[in-house]
Amino acid sequence: MPMSFEYFKFSEFDCSCCGKGSGKQNMNHDFILFLDKIRKSCGFGLAITSGYRCKRKQQSLVLNPKYQATHPDKSSHCKGLAADIKITNDEKRAIFVGTAMDIASEMDLPIRIGISKRQGFCHIDIDNKPTPRLWIYS
Ligand SMILES: [Zn+2]
Repeated sequence: MPMSFEYFKFSEFDCSCCGKGSGKQNMNHDFILFLDKIRKSCGFGLAITSGYRCKRKQQSLVLNPKYQATHPDKSSHCKGLAADIKITNDEKRAIFVGTAMDIASEMDLPIRIGISKRQGFCHIDIDNKPTPRLWIYS
């Protein structure tokens, strides 16, 4: 299992309230390897806006009507199997989604993607839930 990646650092996945080390401790390494391959194939930067979230952080999102956050017991972010990636460009979004689908297939991983155009991010996870899935945040 690799402990370092070509394009990503564990710190990019730290929980915003738990801080340093929480990404390394809680993120699934295969998931970051998956993102690394996507990043390499896409050829453009992928900024992580949210990676690991502790249950307390997730609960605060659930309580905020601005978000459509999943309960902490079911959130793939709390399991270290998800990330939100800043993508605001229609072309880059298309390339990202296509590339992620292809690489998930190559790596035999489940793939779930949610798109928010309004908030400018794509959620991606490899959680053990019904898959494949592609949804749009309202
Ligand atoms: Zn936290």
